[in-house]
Amino acid sequence: MRIKPILSKINTNFWKVGILSLTVLTFLISWQQSDKSIINIKQMEENVFLQKWTGPYGGIPAFDKMNIEDLESAVIAGMELNLAEIEAIANNTEEPTFENTIVAMEKSGKVLDRVFAYYGILRSNMSTPESRKIQAGLAPKLSEYSSKISQNEKLFQRVKVVYSNSLKTPLEADQQRVVELTYKGFEMQGAELDEAKKNRYAEINKELSTLYTKFSNHVLHDEENYVTYLTKDQLSGLSDSFVKSAAKIAEDKDHKGYYAVTNTRSSMAPFLTYSNERELRMQVWTNYYARGDNGDEFDNNNIIAEILKLRRERVELLGYKNYAEWRLQDRMAKTPENAMKLMNAVWPAAIARVQEEVADMQNVANANKDNLTIEPWDYRYYAEKVRKKKYDLNSEEVKQYLQLDKLREAMFYVAGRLFNFSFKPVQKGTVPVFQEDVKVWEVTDKDTGELIGLWYLDPYARTGKRSGAWATTYRSHTTFDGNKTVLASNNSNFVKPAPGEPVLVSWDDASTFFHEFGHALHFFSSKVRYPTLNGGVRDYTEFQSQLLERWLPTDEVINTYLVHYKTGKPMPKSLVAKIKKAATFNQGFATTEYLASALMDMKLHLADPTNINIDAFEKETLKELNMPKELVMRHRTPQFGHVFSGEGYATAYYGYMWADVLTADAAEAFQEAPGGFYDKELSDKLVKYLFSPRNSVDPAEAYRKFRGRDAKIEALMRDRGFPVKE
Ligand SMILES: [Zn+2]
Repeated sequence: MRIKPILSKINTNFWKVGILSLTVLTFLISWQQSDKSIINIKQMEENVFLQKWTGPYGGIPAFDKMNIEDLESAVIAGMELNLAEIEAIANNTEEPTFENTIVAMEKSGKVLDRVFAYYGILRSNMSTPESRKIQAGLAPKLSEYSSKISQNEKLFQRVKVVYSNSLKTPLEADQQRVVELTYKGFEMQGAELDEAKKNRYAEINKELSTLYTKFSNHVLHDEENYVTYLTKDQLSGLSDSFVKSAAKIAEDKDHKGYYAVTNTRSSMAPFLTYSNERELRMQVWTNYYARGDNGDEFDNNNIIAEILKLRRERVELLGYKNYAEWRLQDRMAKTPENAMKLMNAVWPAAIARVQEEVADMQNVANANKDNLTIEPWDYRYYAEKVRKKKYDLNSEEVKQYLQLDKLREAMFYVAGRLFNFSFKPVQKGTVPVFQEDVKVWEVTDKDTGELIGLWYLDPYARTGKRSGAWATTYRSHTTFDGNKTVLASNNSNFVKPAPGEPVLVSWDDASTFFHEFGHALHFFSSKVRYPTLNGGVRDYTEFQSQLLERWLPTDEVINTYLVHYKTGKPMPKSLVAKIKKAATFNQGFATTEYLASALMDMKLHLADPTNINIDAFEKETLKELNMPKELVMRHRTPQFGHVFSGEGYATAYYGYMWADVLTADAAEAFQEAPGGFYDKELSDKLVKYLFSPRNSVDPAEAYRKFRGRDAKIEALMRDRGFPVKE
């Protein structure tokens, strides 16, 4: 279906490691005795980031007490504590066992986990020049820390013994999987390397982490520093709500009386869709797609080349041909060939559809006597005109039925029907928040009343907040060390309304809201025992969230929640029919802009990086692909944060489509079920096999349990309205 503009949960890439069953206090004492130590009890008491979470709901973060000056020392202290825990496990003189090695590792790192919950907020929700500076300083230290663990020889030898023993005498299924994932993780991180190679490996990671931070700071710089200010006579075509918010943003930026189009997707996309000012469309488009590519000190091209070289060198140390081969071995796709096969199967249909879309748009332009040839900055604009003409679908009309508050209630309803969850707002003041707009709900089981956790929602855009939408956890469910409740959050960038006014959102944004909530439900439904099993498999973990989008256009949701913000009447059947009919509209654009990025990601990592020129590589690759000239990659290489601001989505951007095959196929299962999207038997299976196990079961196996077979690409082709070869 749609491709998301989001980075989902940030993959911190820090090796999660465990502790011995010594208490923190023991460490504190031992650290106090060491001269080198920077940790002491006083610091622990005064530094909020290090403190144990207290209060209701199994303990909650003190988001209202964060002091950024304490951040750096807290992260450093957290790392040192964790390293001490790891040392204790590694130096244990008893025979390695599952308990004294694997479980001990699973238990470790709690203090650092807590610090990271805060750190994530200060990085993604409340970033400032100060926090970015701290982040830049910490990046190499964190990398060094994670290398110290992943390259701890004694620790690895113990893991290896437990792993070998488990092959002879298997453990319980979930324990066995923890052992395998742990062992494999070490192996992939270079644990089998000799001393010299290990050192180089760690050096490379350190260099990479610095480059990742530079990369994202450059993109952020270009997002913040290229603002297009409009005068009153340049607003033609734009909606009232856009104009209002543009005026507010301009005022905040000391340009009172002007209207600001910022250099972010949430500002760029509506402007390009509606503005009648072609010159300005070109300017806004150019600013946006030139992020990180302006040939100045914030240019990312050389950084990318450097990243690719270092990544290749690192996997070559491990004996792999290229980064993609190394990366995909524990993914659902398993090999770059499998991922390429899927992308290549869909690409020709996508670009063929673009030609049809462009022809439709050119006809509209000609009929209007606009006297132009469709250029990339015209695509969204004329697509909207074609949409109106062909589908008579007016996005502004649709918006009137999509109120943010009602959408949230709709999501709660769906969660109740499928997951048996109940959401209740917590009383103001009982749970600390980091910003006044953040609201919190208590999540319980509808029948038993059992507490599942808390859901935090940070809905509005503001300076210093990352663009897009994402979901994350502050604490995940586990049972091996006492039952832990989940603290999960959803974060969006809706434009904050004037007091008393509803937030009206687009159909796409409503779908994204459901999407991110799908991630949250995936967190809340976890039934795993050990932390490692909560981990996501990159090309699988978008599936659950993408699938949840399919409940937005169900009758139950439409009739009760998609109601007009003034009249309260549900969205008319005719409008719903139009939306459904229009679902495959513009799929040429959506699939092509996404796939071009996904193919680029893979090809960049399969290519020889020795003398790579990123700019030239991008041009040549697009030429070879016959990329239609009327559109551009969704994320051009110099701004492709999924791939270069860390390793979360490197050679993994294909994963959205991989997950989309599963999504389309699973959605067909619901369409065919007697009870449709609320079929009891099927939704029980959904929760049992596809949500609750998280990574405690191999994803391919889990899917087969749900569907009785593997997913089929044909379902995706049908879903996008592409021809299916029978
Ligand atoms: Zn997602």
